[in-house]
Amino acid sequence: MRILVTGGAGFLGSHICETLLAQSHEVICVDNFFTGSRRNVHHLLAHPDFELIRHDVTLPLFVEVDAIYNFACPASPIHYQHDPVQTTKTSVIGAINMLGLARRLKIPIMQASTSEVYGDPEIHPQGEGYWGRVNPIGPRSCYDEGKRCAETLFFDYHRQHGIAIKVARIFNTYGPRMRPDDGRVISNFIVQALRNEPITLYGDGSQSRSFCYVDDLVDGLIKLMGSAPLLTGPVNLGRDEEFTVAELAALIKEITGTRSAIRMLPLPTDDPRQRRPDIGLARRELKWEPSTSLKSGLEKTIAYFEAALSTHNDGELA
Ligand code: NAD
Ligand code: UDP
Repeated sequence: MRILVTGGAGFLGSHICETLLAQSHEVICVDNFFTGSRRNVHHLLAHPDFELIRHDVTLPLFVEVDAIYNFACPASPIHYQHDPVQTTKTSVIGAINMLGLARRLKIPIMQASTSEVYGDPEIHPQGEGYWGRVNPIGPRSCYDEGKRCAETLFFDYHRQHGIAIKVARIFNTYGPRMRPDDGRVISNFIVQALRNEPITLYGDGSQSRSFCYVDDLVDGLIKLMGSAPLLTGPVNLGRDEEFTVAELAALIKEITGTRSAIRMLPLPTDDPRQRRPDIGLARRELKWEPSTSLKSGLEKTIAYFEAALSTHNDGELA
């Protein structure tokens, strides 16, 4: 198959491109390089089945493909809040453009949705049936509400136009090829630890997240795309083991052996208190199990950052 991956030069997108090529698919990677970079797909550029196109998904795209992974959208709070209007446009207009393409070509399309659609949840762990608690007017809303609206569009195109859709609700995922300046918690803590700089703990660190290693996530995404058409989702994909942010900092300190101290900073507005997926649906329907423990995933990610920081400066990696 020839497969379009939007946001393909980003963290998750580059791993998806790599896996699809390894499975002998042709890949068209589309990215505007806002948070992604050519460096993430540099090793794929010489591959005869790989094509890279600089393009913004808020503009229509005309290509001939057999399936779409719609992953374009900045995912780190500092980046998606940098230009919140563009973030909403990317989710909403980007979804309309990619769904239009899927409709014309009569092909399946996957949406990279997010655990952020649950907002600051009152239900714990979060199952797909929970409708969420999202502030529509706060600094995170451009991302959360943009992704919620994209889900609405996916289901309306499915009901109205019969498009085959797959909606993945992705929980916090980490691994190699996150940018050192990505701003999300795992890359921040690892880079700070490796540089013996203070580890920036927001709030008192008692808020929780559940962290999934990228290889496990990509395995789940590919299983979801290959699943029966009836399984539209939304399907939660993440690892159902929960850690406080303070526990995460302690684990990264232990693995790296850093001299870094902890620096407490204010908790950002609307930062969710707790988050853990119920992944019963993915286990049952996809036979999916995220098998990489946080410790072993962190060890691989730390090894990546050690090598990356010693060979490149930040500007080159960003
Ligand atoms: P990322 O920032 O590394 O990747 C996003 C990619 O999209 C980048 O390459 C960026 O340049 C590109 N992009 C942004 N706006 C675009 C536009 N208008 N047109 C074309 N390309 C554009 O982030 P990521 O972690 O790889 O996230 C990828 C997708 O997965 C996003 O849609 C994100 O919302 C979703 N997601 C990620 C996580 C996670 O934990 N990593 C969790 C939930 C959802
Ligand atoms: N966080 C932190 N220090 C950092 C970056 C993030 O304590 O340097 C916290 C953040 O406040 C949140 C959690 O870590 O409670 C996860 O943040 P991230 O931005 O990675 O993901 P999200 O909040 O979108 O789940």
